[in-house]
Amino acid sequence: MKYLSSRGGMSPQGFSEILLEGLAPDGGLAVPEQYPQVSHAQLQAWKNLSYAELAFEVLRNFATDIPEADLKALTSKTYTKAVYGTDEITPLRPLFDGMQVLELSNGPTLAFKDMAMQLLGNLFEYQLARVGQELNILGATSGDTGSAAEYAMRGKKGVRVFMLSPAGKMSAFQRAQMYSLQDPNIFNVAVEGLFDDCQDMVKAVSEDLEFKSRYKIGTVNSINWGRISAQVVYYFKSYLKAAPTIGDPVSFAVPSGNFGNVLAGHIARQMGLPIRRLVVATNENNVLDEFFRTGVYRPRASAETYITSSPSMDISKASNFERFVYDLVGRDPQALKALWDTLKRDGQFDLSGDARFAEVESRYGFVSGSSSHANRLETIREVYERTGTLIDTHTADAVKVARQYVEPGVPMVVLETALAVKFAETIEEATGQIPPVPAAYAGIEKLPQRVVGMKASVAEIKQFIVQNTGL
Ligand SMILES: *Cc1c(COP(=O)(O)O)cnc(C)c1O
Repeated sequence: MKYLSSRGGMSPQGFSEILLEGLAPDGGLAVPEQYPQVSHAQLQAWKNLSYAELAFEVLRNFATDIPEADLKALTSKTYTKAVYGTDEITPLRPLFDGMQVLELSNGPTLAFKDMAMQLLGNLFEYQLARVGQELNILGATSGDTGSAAEYAMRGKKGVRVFMLSPAGKMSAFQRAQMYSLQDPNIFNVAVEGLFDDCQDMVKAVSEDLEFKSRYKIGTVNSINWGRISAQVVYYFKSYLKAAPTIGDPVSFAVPSGNFGNVLAGHIARQMGLPIRRLVVATNENNVLDEFFRTGVYRPRASAETYITSSPSMDISKASNFERFVYDLVGRDPQALKALWDTLKRDGQFDLSGDARFAEVESRYGFVSGSSSHANRLETIREVYERTGTLIDTHTADAVKVARQYVEPGVPMVVLETALAVKFAETIEEATGQIPPVPAAYAGIEKLPQRVVGMKASVAEIKQFIVQNTGL
């Protein structure tokens, strides 16, 4: 399997070549040359595989340049009960009104990002050893991504993580989760400023190409193809469990921000998995909902991006969306580029009168909706009253939107992207209940913390990297 750029300006590359890269050299995103096809007979044969075995079967189609025995060792090392808490790895639990909840948040940082990031940590270590390289991951986080990256990369050979976070702006739990890590390859930097300041520092360092290459700076953001392909696996796994008979349709509802999670569902569907609907759920930041309802894609300015109680979906533009639009325009890089030129010129593009937009639902299964703070509170309360379980705010957005699209006889699987404990304040507001802290995290806020403070200064972060890499 080779990968191309969505904008046409990259010679075909293998999986392990794009694994450590961000954007393609022409500013596009890496996309597979074609989607591998999975037959009905294969689906039948996969029904009783363990998660790790299934991950191998799915990923061998994408990572064709990794020897199969190595890939198998990597997936079985990653998807274990020790890491995800159950043998099933991603259990399904019943909800009501035709819905089920897919538990994706039982990994070390209690959010679905662990599903892919844990594999990425092992893949990076493997690939870096194979090519005899080191990598210094530089990132900015306001919570979930940074901790998922740190828990995936801690102790991994050849990798260091420099993670910038806004001092005093995350919850005490989030701070403790990251800053209590004592691994020598993990560096937490608390920046005096906001998340945007942290992100600007990362951007400035990455734009210094000489520094970037000398100090082997990389990222693990949501456009990473390794992450996307790892996320495809749980659509297969849950389909095989939820479908009454293999071949029957199943719908999925996905709390969405950067469009990485639901893109993986789209890929599973393109591979032949009988997915009926892909329900894109947003919060008040409804860039994606607007597109799927109207055909207009209009990323927002930061000043127009709301801070909400489902903060991991507070995005102004959906960085993986380009990969879906590439398929929508018939995988034609020129057509894709024309749209992105319009986007650059006008701040939006409009496909409302375009025959291809009419296929968004009929051919690709996409539908959408959005949710407000009041909707979240109501949904969290209702789920608690009817099932006795607490769901997090992002999952609540998806439950709210999913209900509009439930059809008789078609299971609706709602993806649980975080546990309630990560957003305890809103859960308490909704239900009066304080969500239980999992045993592994009891007392975490009292552990010693390893973090350095810093001004929002590009020079200072560069100097810090130089000092700590020994390169
Ligand atoms: C990252 C995240 C999302 C959004 O996922 P995308 O792949 O960016 O669409 C939703 N919920 C939670 C809890 C997250 O951490």
